[in-house]
Amino acid sequence: MEDKYGLIGAPIAHSLSPAMHNFWFEEYGISGDYRLYPVEKCDLVQAVSRIKEARVKGFNVTFPHKTAILSLLDEVDEAAEVIGAVNTVVQTGGRLIGYNTDGIGFLKGLQRNFPSFINKRPSILVIGAGGAARSVALTLARAMGARVDICNRTCSKAVALSAACGAYSDSDALKFDQAERQLDRYQVVINTTSIGLNPDADHSVIHLNRALPGTLFADLIYSPRRTAFLREAERLGHPVMNGLSMLVYQGALAFQKWTGVFPETVKMENHLIKMYLMS
Ligand code: NDP
Repeated sequence: MEDKYGLIGAPIAHSLSPAMHNFWFEEYGISGDYRLYPVEKCDLVQAVSRIKEARVKGFNVTFPHKTAILSLLDEVDEAAEVIGAVNTVVQTGGRLIGYNTDGIGFLKGLQRNFPSFINKRPSILVIGAGGAARSVALTLARAMGARVDICNRTCSKAVALSAACGAYSDSDALKFDQAERQLDRYQVVINTTSIGLNPDADHSVIHLNRALPGTLFADLIYSPRRTAFLREAERLGHPVMNGLSMLVYQGALAFQKWTGVFPETVKMENHLIKMYLMS
């Protein structure tokens, strides 16, 4: 019988994770079947005990359970503990062990697509202070020790995330207008907000005209492949990166935790673009 894997969260019907993991299982001749398990907020405790009983070997966790699941696991990896969220769980010997591969997934995409930026220890601006922002900002602060400033609509969340990053690097909390005025201080600017998705698809989260030439603009959103933020950055001549490499690398890192195999990522990105993201 095939080993069971899956994704828990709600809503999850749009997820590309089954396409990605089932493609890799086939590609590497590994016995596995990855399915969507819709789990509403109030059903998490029951769902986790069912997963244990059903001996699901590994699963991903998404909205709204990434933080709530921590207290239901037998062990949580140190980086996930610092981030305060888990997106990947391994079941071994009846124990559930939680990890967070989102931030490392972003970093690996950056390393592959723009290695020269990493080598220069860039100053970074993270726009947003939600769950994805925590993973990305804390991973970059811990891995690179570079300045990581945070700006967010809700100031208290920017202050809290900046304080957490401050344990590993220099970090300030900013308002949007402050960030726009001092955009020339950053070599990398990352939009982690959901502005760029409908109904905010036509708005760039901040104005970019103060950025120095060569500043890299990244967005965690991958559908649309170019948000208004990235379109504006490209119009001004800047290099850009969308969230697809993060999606694929966070999945590849999860796949490695479950199977011991780190799968090929560029072919997967092209496969997802061709099959699901052409429009
Ligand atoms: P959260 O709900 O945790 O955070 C949302 C963030 O967006 C907050 O900072 C919020 O600000 C901000 N925001 C939302 N609406 C507005 C608005 N109208 N004006 C200003 N700020 C706004 O979501 P996540 O962090 O989980 O996800 C954020 C984005 O990252 C999503 O687009 C998601 O698709 C993407 N993502 C991509 C991944 C990938 O693999 N590529 C992985 C995970 C996420 P406030 O705090 O003020 O509410």
